[in-house]
Amino acid sequence: PIAISKSFKLNSFLSPQAKMSRPVQARRLEGIDKNIWVEFVKLAATYSTVNLGQGFPDFPPPDFLKKAFVRALSGENHMLHQYTRGFGHPPLVKILAQFFGKLLGRDLDPMTNVMVTVGAYQALFCCFQAFVDEGDEVIIIEPFFDCYEPMVKMAGGMPVFVQLRPKAPKDGQLMSSADWQLDPAELASKFSERTKAIVLNSPNNPLGKVFSREELELIADLCVKHDVLCISDEVYEWLVYDGKEHIRIASLQGMWDRTVTIGSAGKSFSATGWKVGWTVGPNRLLQHLRTVHQNSAYHCATVAQEAVAQGFQRELELYGKPESYFIQLPKELQQKRDWLVQSLDAVGMKPIIPEGTYFLVADISEFKSDVPDVPDSSEPYDSRFAKWMVKNKGLAAIPLSAFYCGAHKNNYNHFIRFCFAKEEATLKAANDVLQKWKWEKTSP
Ligand code: PMP
Repeated sequence: PIAISKSFKLNSFLSPQAKMSRPVQARRLEGIDKNIWVEFVKLAATYSTVNLGQGFPDFPPPDFLKKAFVRALSGENHMLHQYTRGFGHPPLVKILAQFFGKLLGRDLDPMTNVMVTVGAYQALFCCFQAFVDEGDEVIIIEPFFDCYEPMVKMAGGMPVFVQLRPKAPKDGQLMSSADWQLDPAELASKFSERTKAIVLNSPNNPLGKVFSREELELIADLCVKHDVLCISDEVYEWLVYDGKEHIRIASLQGMWDRTVTIGSAGKSFSATGWKVGWTVGPNRLLQHLRTVHQNSAYHCATVAQEAVAQGFQRELELYGKPESYFIQLPKELQQKRDWLVQSLDAVGMKPIIPEGTYFLVADISEFKSDVPDVPDSSEPYDSRFAKWMVKNKGLAAIPLSAFYCGAHKNNYNHFIRFCFAKEEATLKAANDVLQKWKWEKTSP
């Protein structure tokens, strides 16, 4: 054996050549390396006593789901601790095909029309990587779930933004997420021969807007006319209120063939940490998602997939019945939404009533005296306000500007987003903070 002296090892470690000097960052990461979540999650962890920021429930998933997980984890079938089928655990893709086949009114093949992913995040990533070429345009409706823009860019595509524009509510009434609408002519003007896809998110994070049939038909007609794909992020599909209906764009005329529908067990069963998501669509599209999935994550946790399969089995049996979790969860959340609406309205932080999701956007204009505007600041007002609020009031929320592209961040910069998928005690604590704040503001 060749003896390597200690001094040789030390010298080679310290030599200037050992230190890398070439740029390490791939070009595709330019401009997307800053992320608001990293900053706001850290602020919430450091300062918040009441966290209505990031979107996750602070209540447990339903008992039947937890029990299914425990059974899968500690049962006889030790193979559940090993890899399963890469494109989705067979019991899960089978039940998803049955369940969504029923909702979409078509026969779905579990092996080719469904693919399981590591949360809806990875489903989105697979879509952009599979469909978007260098220079392709992808239409994104603002405000949007923030990862769409960097994911399009990482795939080499060009995001093209179109905004939901608010209409003033009737005198004395609170605004609703339904008051935020697309201008049909503006939307049509964004489609061109370079457009490869549009991203639709209904119910929409952050506004809670549930797109109406007319709005979806407008989008569908443009997709068909321009031969464009639709990536439909429907992770909040069960969370619709006041008797509203969630309509799946894949069920509209001409859309099945060009749509990938994305769902999430994290949102459907209040278990965001499990990271089980899925895509449903025609094999013509899903075959390309499988290529990306095969060569990136490839596989999702088997035990979690087994438990989610059992959760869906139960939900299929109870479909439309009062005991169904997909009926009970929105009922409970609607009540939580109403509590938060009341708390915010009472102190003058005007809520925009969401028709769906577990988010609520509120207008902070009346609180501007607490955090004065800094003209020419590069940071949008709502972002400075949200930081001030968590540091000084212990209440965490997310600025609406986080859901706009760089050029539009100052268009609607006096709103913040709250998550109301929280225990009664958390919402009560938020109410206490708001009441005390209002009292301090108004008392001499
Ligand atoms: N889409 C939207 C609109 C979301 O709000 C989220 C989660 N915040 C996701 C996708 C990601 O879901 P998952 O946790 O299943 O990856």
